[in-house]
Amino acid sequence: MRIGSVIVIGAGAAGLAAAERLVSQGLQVTMLEASDRAGGRVRHLEGFADFAIELGAEEVHGLENCLLPLVKASGAELIRHESAHDYIRYDGKLVSLEQARAGEDLSEAFDFVANLSRFTGPAWTVEQCIVARHMPGHAWHYLDSRLGVEHGTTLDRLGMRGFAGYERNWQLREENYTVRQPYVRLLDPLLAKVRDRIHFGAIVARLEWSGPQAVVCLAGGEDLRADAVIYTGSVAVLRDAPPEFSPLLPAEKCEAIGNIGMDGGMKIVMRFRRRFWPEDMYFLHSDTFWPQFWNPGRGRGGQAHLLTAFVSGTRADFLRQLEVDLVEFALGELDRIFGERIASQNYEDAYLADWTREPFVRGLYSFPLAQTEPRHREALAASLGGKLFFAGEATDLEGHSGTVHGAIESGRRAANEVMACAR
Ligand SMILES: Cc1cc2nc3c(=O)[nH]c(=O)nc-3n(C[C@H](O)[C@H](O)[C@H](O)COP(=O)(O)OP(=O)(O)OC[C@H]3O[C@@H](n4cnc5c(N)ncnc54)[C@H](O)[C@@H]3O)c2cc1C
Repeated sequence: MRIGSVIVIGAGAAGLAAAERLVSQGLQVTMLEASDRAGGRVRHLEGFADFAIELGAEEVHGLENCLLPLVKASGAELIRHESAHDYIRYDGKLVSLEQARAGEDLSEAFDFVANLSRFTGPAWTVEQCIVARHMPGHAWHYLDSRLGVEHGTTLDRLGMRGFAGYERNWQLREENYTVRQPYVRLLDPLLAKVRDRIHFGAIVARLEWSGPQAVVCLAGGEDLRADAVIYTGSVAVLRDAPPEFSPLLPAEKCEAIGNIGMDGGMKIVMRFRRRFWPEDMYFLHSDTFWPQFWNPGRGRGGQAHLLTAFVSGTRADFLRQLEVDLVEFALGELDRIFGERIASQNYEDAYLADWTREPFVRGLYSFPLAQTEPRHREALAASLGGKLFFAGEATDLEGHSGTVHGAIESGRRAANEVMACAR
């Protein structure tokens, strides 16, 4: 059947990239977005400081990918971050990562990271692997931040095998950048081509994909028809609150959804009257319960003194269950790291972004569980009946899942699949 009309569900990075490619090929595209804005997990906060605060994606992980042309086309400026600006707190000491590298204390942890992609052992979590190697507690804490939190989870959930073959995986790169302008600026060249196709507040409740045309039913009652549909909702939405698929998704797709991780997590951005951390500090990997902090203002030339606290996976679940005041909790952790209640005394204001509570995202980003195999991502990405196509960061097959560029590449891959059917 010739495909002429396509509905793209979701206006995050994947949906925008898919729609832009289809529009440029002359297909008739309609985009349906449940929220009131484009960007999905790329979102920022204005007015809290004298620069935009990223609540979702914040870093560009390497430039040898589809983001480079978007950086150029959007005119966005990048700020390079090197590990020379990272710090580690362990055994009551705050030391630079460079200092820690030169010493013996964390050498096992650094070796572990360097050799991750060569892992060929059993279907273990990173935590099982660390325990089996009798690594000291401070190595565990560093790895929990460096690997667990960076993958949006905790070491008891992150699978070792997922690293194998990920030679070009963003996580293993040291080349990271933040964007001086809001990150969403990188998506502007895509958005400019499809803005007038997006229907905001359009919640897809049901998707019929076996008839001569696909039928997409909105929560408001309206039905739309198209020759093909590209679905870009997150794997956590597919797992916990998917639209009703008719017919039901096949067993391999359901198995894939259940075998790819995506955990909850939150960012708290805190503003202080003065800076009490080292001037050059960007990242802080800490052995406190709250594992990771960073300075979102580094390199931006703003006046505001900010720290972002990030927690994910089972630790984020635990904190949520405790029902403690999360800002107070994070301030207590900073007081413990920097001493003399300095964080609490200089605290001005905070903003909490809890992605677990976002009904159309339901977590941070996908990661490999111990049992995740390449076939699971392939099954998640596989199209159904030449009518229903899947994109979104979790469907990336090139080792870039969990990133903005992985999402964009997945959107383009799904658009290519649709166009292959259109010919
Ligand atoms: C806190 C945080 C930090 C991150 N940091 C980084 C980083 O530094 N660097 C990086 O590269 N990546 C980072 N990421 C990951 C990156 O943001 C995502 O991989 C990427 O944005 C995902 O894009 P997507 O299009 O696949 O999904 P999404 O952005 O989730 O887009 C899917 C869209 O579909 C919509 N939708 C879902 N269900 C429905 C429905 N039923 N009807 C209609 N619409 C629906 C949603 O509202 C959403 O807008 C981070 C993510 C988070 C949350």
